[in-house]
Amino acid sequence: MRLIFIGPPGAGKGTQSAKLVEYLRIPHLSTGDMLRQAVRDKTDAGRHAESFMDKGDLVPDDVVMDMVRERLERPDCRAGALLDGVPRNQRQADLLDEALARSGMRLDVALELRGPDAVGGRRRAGRGRGDDQPGGIKTRLESYWRQTRPLLDYYQDRGILHRIDGQGTPDEVFERIKVALRSERGEVSPRCETPGS
Ligand code: ADP
Repeated sequence: MRLIFIGPPGAGKGTQSAKLVEYLRIPHLSTGDMLRQAVRDKTDAGRHAESFMDKGDLVPDDVVMDMVRERLERPDCRAGALLDGVPRNQRQADLLDEALARSGMRLDVALELRGPDAVGGRRRAGRGRGDDQPGGIKTRLESYWRQTRPLLDYYQDRGILHRIDGQGTPDEVFERIKVALRSERGEVSPRCETPGS
């Protein structure tokens, strides 16, 4: 199963991603983690990405998506993968579809983690990260609303979007995710149906 998570900064995606990859036993592909590792390793991509990340800007789509494509082609992703932090805009969504198609795969599930801004605000307040300062939050929320959130319509139209209420304890939220995935896996997928059956 190949999944993506969409939600504003501070919605709890990191916590839920960790639970989900353990539950599904699939690799966790976090573009933030991959980029930070590339910076540490001083790869070409890392050197290119560093200045953008330092400023809190999005790294150019091709740099990120080349990394994602290369990672998806490794054998452990045959079983599935959870993509965390990508796609962030429509171009990344298109490049992701292409990358998956090249490996004979496709996206099965898009999870939206939603909740009132106050929920994210409380969680962020307890996190204490450098880019969680008021200015940084504003920029990242703006980028989310302008570029990332419109992707919900794109995945809704494809019939793979599940909206998850992000309020409550991490375990309560994770229960909702499991219910959504059960409905997904329990369904007879239309493309597997034979006419007349
Ligand atoms: P956050 O969700 O708080 O922004 P991440 O760990 O996902 O944290 O990302 C950290 C930084 O890495 C981002 O600010 C951005 O510069 C870069 N980054 C991560 N994912 C992407 C992506 N899909 N496209 C472009 N830049 C990205």
